[in-house]
Amino acid sequence: MFYDLSKHKARVWEYGGEMARKFIGGRGFAAKILWDMVPRGADPLGPENKLVFAAGPLTGLPGPSTGKLVIAAKSPLTGGYGDGNVGSVAAVQMRRAGFDAVVVEGASKKPVYLLVEKGKAEVFDAEDLWGLDTFEAERRLKEKHGKTAGVLLIGPAGENLVNYAVVASQEGRAGGRPGMGAVMGSKKLKAVVFVGDKEPEVADPEGLRKLASEAREDIKSKPMYNFWIRQGTMAAVQWSQENSVLPTKNFSEGIFEGASAVDGYAMEKIKTHQRGCPFCNMPCGNVVEDAEGNPAELDYENVALLGPNLLIGDLKKIAVLNRMLDKLGLDTIGAGNSVGFAMEAKEKGLLKEGPEWGDYEAVKELLVDIAYKRGDLGRLLSKGVKRASEEIGGSADLYAVHVKGLEVTGYDCHAAPAMALAYGTSPIGAHHKDAWIISWEVKTDRLAYTREKVEKLIWMQRIRGGIFESMVSCRLPWIELGFELEWYPKLFKAATGVSMTIDDMFEVADRIYTLIRAYWVREYGGWSREYDRPPRKWFEIPLSKGPYSGAKLDPEKYEEMLSWYYEARGWDERGVPRKSTLGKLGLGDVAAELEKITPLKE
Ligand code: SF4
Repeated sequence: MFYDLSKHKARVWEYGGEMARKFIGGRGFAAKILWDMVPRGADPLGPENKLVFAAGPLTGLPGPSTGKLVIAAKSPLTGGYGDGNVGSVAAVQMRRAGFDAVVVEGASKKPVYLLVEKGKAEVFDAEDLWGLDTFEAERRLKEKHGKTAGVLLIGPAGENLVNYAVVASQEGRAGGRPGMGAVMGSKKLKAVVFVGDKEPEVADPEGLRKLASEAREDIKSKPMYNFWIRQGTMAAVQWSQENSVLPTKNFSEGIFEGASAVDGYAMEKIKTHQRGCPFCNMPCGNVVEDAEGNPAELDYENVALLGPNLLIGDLKKIAVLNRMLDKLGLDTIGAGNSVGFAMEAKEKGLLKEGPEWGDYEAVKELLVDIAYKRGDLGRLLSKGVKRASEEIGGSADLYAVHVKGLEVTGYDCHAAPAMALAYGTSPIGAHHKDAWIISWEVKTDRLAYTREKVEKLIWMQRIRGGIFESMVSCRLPWIELGFELEWYPKLFKAATGVSMTIDDMFEVADRIYTLIRAYWVREYGGWSREYDRPPRKWFEIPLSKGPYSGAKLDPEKYEEMLSWYYEARGWDERGVPRKSTLGKLGLGDVAAELEKITPLKE
């Protein structure tokens, strides 16, 4: 369903079987819609941009961990394709309301929220919600539309068009790191509320119920299940510390002296309860009481970026920062990375103001300044580290840890070349969600630059960024517990009636990746290999602590791996998809349009 906020008009769009076969759903649908319907050069924060909320064929069905949807748009942070996924009742309710995707276009003149209810959509005034934090605004919307309503919304950061504002839900769930919250704010859309009353159609309901119940049992029987339930992603703090990849002091050190005070075991001591996404029987939202006595959810990423990366070693204080950011609707990773950048830039004399390392109170203040674009530093950092470093000039970009403008997540890659390549080639900028190859890499010939690593990376991107993001099902059962991939074609068949092998799904994944690459090429007016390069810091400033002290990436060897990557993907040496690749993937129309931008190689 499309809703035009400029005209206050809804139109239902029945997509055909070909769209479903070629793109499956979720990220696949989002990429196709943005490619087809957002004109080249559109202002990410203008009415021409479209904000896509897309479920997949497994979303909201009783499969394991299926309560998720993808949020996508042209990104104000990177100027390219942006997306993220969020686990929320909203995903389930969107499908129960009768829609696989809701696309918001145009822009309202005044604050509104969109109600998608039982096959219909309507806009309501949101003047009284504008300015509220995400917790309070969601509470009020649920008071009005019922406790079971699914709500996706923005906080002050999205309203103020901060480049890394996210879309939030359920007091701790958030998605859309590349500024999807700012896109929503630019449309003056405070929230989308979903209310449904009918189950999504399923090809084989009995078969799906049986499979889902077996799958859930299988998940519970996995050896790592109990430990996962105890610590969730927080176990990664200790793992990152042991492997010298914990972002510390703005990705300078790789290990943090106070790591044991902020790891999964420390979290267990203050954990009060657990939350999770709908349809998940391995919930990973660890709720603790923060330093101000409030419940706050912790996960590895927010702890790594708001803790060790800023030299803050108190878990309860980190929880305060995380809760604040959830309420403000600001990406915890982007925020932690940006503040770390400011701390280092100040230390190096490139900025006059900014917090000192470990200064929790100053960080708290600065985060609010960023969300409201207040003060010189708040305004500067609200743009993200890439633009902030460009404005500062001089050597500032040495300390800006990003790819394509999106801040790097929780893994230092001075001594992890394949993970550096994963960040370099991720389709949204530096995010690990498409390929968390580092867990495998540290167990192999870690410092080597090999074709095997490139092949493994593409295999992971096909699964994580392709299958899971288009089915829209959480990847964590597969990654963390070893829940076998072979379940997914079976679940997909029961849900849709369509038989697809893993190889068929890999082909869809390749199509999605190539289409997204085409999107970037179109927006950037061509392509250069430098856009796929990880942060300068990892090449030029060696890791300064721990067993890998002195390690840095080798630029020539990285380029060699990048060439192997392009070759395997069927892209040319610039990183532009070849005409033959586009043809093979059924993207001939894309080739025709790309040729207007840059000559395509065969
Ligand atoms: S494992 Fe965590 S992120 Fe995945 S669906 Fe469950 S609660 Fe959500």
